[in-house]
Amino acid sequence: MLISIVVPCFDEEEIIARFHEHVTTELGRLAVDFELVYVDDGSRDGTLEILQERAAADPRVRYVSFSRNFGKEAAMLAGLRHATGDAVVLMDADLQHPPRLVGRMLELHAEGYDQVVARRTRDGDRVTRTLLARGYYRVINRLVDVELTDGVGDFRLLSRRAVEAVLELTEYNRFSKGIFAWVGFPTTTFEYRNETREQGRSKWTFRKLLNYGLDGLLSFNDKPLRAALHLGLVLVSTAALYAAWIVGDALLNGVDTPGYVTLLVAVTALAGVQMVMLGLIGEYVGRIYYEVKRRPHFLVKATNTGAAPRTRPSP
Ligand code: UDP
Ligand code: MG
Repeated sequence: MLISIVVPCFDEEEIIARFHEHVTTELGRLAVDFELVYVDDGSRDGTLEILQERAAADPRVRYVSFSRNFGKEAAMLAGLRHATGDAVVLMDADLQHPPRLVGRMLELHAEGYDQVVARRTRDGDRVTRTLLARGYYRVINRLVDVELTDGVGDFRLLSRRAVEAVLELTEYNRFSKGIFAWVGFPTTTFEYRNETREQGRSKWTFRKLLNYGLDGLLSFNDKPLRAALHLGLVLVSTAALYAAWIVGDALLNGVDTPGYVTLLVAVTALAGVQMVMLGLIGEYVGRIYYEVKRRPHFLVKATNTGAAPRTRPSP
């Protein structure tokens, strides 16, 4: 049985060598056959050179380097496409996903689980991020068709058939948390203590997180569109009732002119609602736009994995 470890790396020169030592020793201890698939996501520092050095020294090391930064989702996809193992473990390069847990994952996989998911506690995270995340998952699980869990990231083991299933989903806007959940198969989760990043810094800015959150919300359902429709219906029926009441009142008591402020507030509020709804529709249209272009998810600049993988699945 061959295990593939897929590692997306973006500007990780400070830690990648140490990561490599850790994984190779941990996996050596487990006495399993393994390969390491590093995906250099267009790093601007020395990450690629370090990977090339390791690859030259060790035939188990494979790397794929992108022509520019395409994002972690694209990097994971590339890793999954290049991985040849019977099981694949996705892991961050910053040692926040402790390599010692791979043994645990393999045990659970042997019990028959296709997806073994490591769920991190949030100790050591900034309080604001923890609270925001918690609120976000509460909201999103009411909306999205798949179950998403707080603390569950990309650190997981996938069986070969789960990997094939993930590769079947060729959408351009990739929201892995949703994709993994959508794929299904017997899945189990175990908890591990959060580790803070030792070197380098997290590439997640607040803005990136916000956009990621919106992706999650919009990639996996069309319920926001339905909600927009409901809101529109509520507003229209309220307006109709109010109109009936005004007309009745005018017929019984005559017309009086005050109500300027009410009018203004109503007009701006409705304009605001319409803008939001338009924006919402725009989001979906934008997604459709990217999907229909069918552009590749990434472009490869350098690799030692031999033949170019399918960048696009056969139709
Ligand atoms: N990463 C990537 N491309 C990006 C951003 C991040 O491949 O555009 C990789 C990064 O090198 C790391 C993993 O994704 O291996 C997680 O990134 P990070 O530690 O910055 O995120 P966090 O742990 O804060 O969620
Ligand atoms: Mg990290």
